[in-house]
Amino acid sequence: MKSLHMLDHVLIIGGGVVGLTTAWELARRDRKVCIVEAGTFGQGATAAAGGMLGLTAEVHFGEGDLLAFQKKNVEIYEEYVNQLQTASDTDVDYRNQPTLVVARDRDDEEALQRVVDYQTGVGLRAHWLGADEIKARHPSLRNVVRAVACPDDHRLDPAALARALIVACRRRGVKMMEDSAVLRVMSDERGLRGVVLEDGRRIYANQIIVAAGARSATIEGIPELSGPVVRPVRGQIIVVDGGEQPPIDTVIRSPDVYLVPRRDGRIFIGSTMEEKGFSREVTVGAVRTLLEEAWTIVPDLDERPIIELRCGFRPVSLDGRPILGPSQLSGLFLACGHGRHGILLAPMTGRIMARYLCGEQEGDPEFEAFTPRRFATTP
Ligand SMILES: Cc1cc2nc3c(=O)[nH]c(=O)nc-3n(C[C@H](O)[C@H](O)[C@H](O)COP(=O)(O)OP(=O)(O)OC[C@H]3O[C@@H](n4cnc5c(N)ncnc54)[C@H](O)[C@@H]3O)c2cc1C
Repeated sequence: MKSLHMLDHVLIIGGGVVGLTTAWELARRDRKVCIVEAGTFGQGATAAAGGMLGLTAEVHFGEGDLLAFQKKNVEIYEEYVNQLQTASDTDVDYRNQPTLVVARDRDDEEALQRVVDYQTGVGLRAHWLGADEIKARHPSLRNVVRAVACPDDHRLDPAALARALIVACRRRGVKMMEDSAVLRVMSDERGLRGVVLEDGRRIYANQIIVAAGARSATIEGIPELSGPVVRPVRGQIIVVDGGEQPPIDTVIRSPDVYLVPRRDGRIFIGSTMEEKGFSREVTVGAVRTLLEEAWTIVPDLDERPIIELRCGFRPVSLDGRPILGPSQLSGLFLACGHGRHGILLAPMTGRIMARYLCGEQEGDPEFEAFTPRRFATTP
């Protein structure tokens, strides 16, 4: 079995948005990079994602350090997209349009008011629209009593983002290997040695980044990921053809469903949050519930064809925060556990990981909450 010696390369395991953006950042710093991907680049959770950069609409109580990190990403997102689009000549359908969070009844409204109080309390912008305003601005919405507009939320097409990153990486000379699943990380008394692939091939490297999304903890030999530290949370998505004049032009959310329009007329309707391991099933119950909810808010969808049903696995860590930084095994780095926010967190993830690999990030208290050390097996 052929072995590859890539000791002058950074080896990245996993070619989703996290691995690709990190590869691109490193390559822009003139580092040699090789990515090994188990299947096809960009076809993991990244391909299933809605593409909401939902800083405000998706805020959760008590996620202070994550929120600060999300804000940093939003601050640089436009610049990141501009640089990437120039580097790849690929449009990622980045849109600066507010998310609309709708209330269908009094209960929704009360719950939403509590969220708005929290949002504005932590410095996010969110404001109520009354029924008349909703009718004027979003004429296809029905059964909505009030809604909250979140002007700092944006969106893009994650599949296009992955395509752009693939082109940008190739143009920068990143070595890209598909159909190459890593079985384990190799180390011995001298330290990190490389990886063993499922087909028995070995790749020798002395700097490795684990960015295998929901499957990161299935790779053997990573001290911090020896238990179920990162797990898959399944999300089912329905893709509808919205036609030449789609009924919505901005992201609409209710407590039970979201609808994300794309430039090409497709509308992504999602999504479930399910603890089903790596089962790829798309189920009748989930599709029924999502469609019913979506149809209640946007009845004009009634005649529109369903073009695809898909699911993906959010890589969720034990404490719900991403895992970013050096492992206790010298030379090994982790970039996983981005949960529901991997698209939103991509720009800063790439930058931080590139800084770690270049020895510039050590000891930054700002990112301490994400250190892999919190899952270390030895002190
Ligand atoms: C339904 C759904 C909707 C979502 N909506 C949003 C959204 O609107 N906004 C947002 O910010 N985020 C969203 N997310 C979350 C986002 O998609 C993820 O956080 C993000 O894609 C994670 O990127 P990743 O690169 O870590 O993982 P992935 O995209 O899954 O990439 C990991 C890659 O590693 C590869 N791999 C796995 N094991 C190995 C191995 N052993 N060897 C080599 N390669 C391996 C996989 O094949 C895969 O290509 C959503 C997720 C889902 C499922």
